[in-house]
Amino acid sequence: MLGTILVVEDEEQICKALKVSLGDEGYMVYVANTLRQGEVEAATRKPDLVIVDLGLPDGDGIFLIRTIRNYSMVPIIVLSARISEDSKVQALDAGADDYLIKPFGTNELLARVRAQLRRRLVPFDKTDQNLIELGDVKIDLQKQLITKNGEAVHLTKLENRLLFALIVERGKILTQRYLIQQVWGASYVEHPHYLRMYMARLRQKLESDPSDPKFLLTENGIGYRLAI
Ligand code: CA
Repeated sequence: MLGTILVVEDEEQICKALKVSLGDEGYMVYVANTLRQGEVEAATRKPDLVIVDLGLPDGDGIFLIRTIRNYSMVPIIVLSARISEDSKVQALDAGADDYLIKPFGTNELLARVRAQLRRRLVPFDKTDQNLIELGDVKIDLQKQLITKNGEAVHLTKLENRLLFALIVERGKILTQRYLIQQVWGASYVEHPHYLRMYMARLRQKLESDPSDPKFLLTENGIGYRLAI
């Protein structure tokens, strides 16, 4: 078994589809149809990953995310019909790791699930592997050395800090606010253009085609994600 997944969702059809598709992949799936039931199942089953719908009959899934985050760092993927950027940012700020808009494809969901579980299995601080590869770019975390096709890449202090913030939380969507706080400090959150500028510089230095990035991805209106 690859792990246990708790699905908190009230739409029966989606529950059924998820049970089948995740079950076929080898996951053990538990389903809760309400916020309250989700709280109980999350606490008692101790799942390896939680999928949460935001529109639950007895409350907002965001509350469930906050409750779970009080005691667990389990990966949380949000499912929602809400497409507004505000609601995505709210869910991510509450502690969700990823976000899928309904309707979504099964393959897309499975890919996101695998990515989150991988992150959990090899947490950054416990990995022995200090070498991260992004295509032609090799990042040696221990030696603080970055090379692209074998040639050294020099990053400024702030570029380095931004790249490191992305690496620590790789695979996760990071909000602009979060990244700005990490790199420049809380007083800069009203200046997202710094972040845009530095992301452009990182892409220039690290991506093969900066106009079509493969690793330093933009999540429209929300922030960025380092895809590994
Ligand atoms: Ca719903």
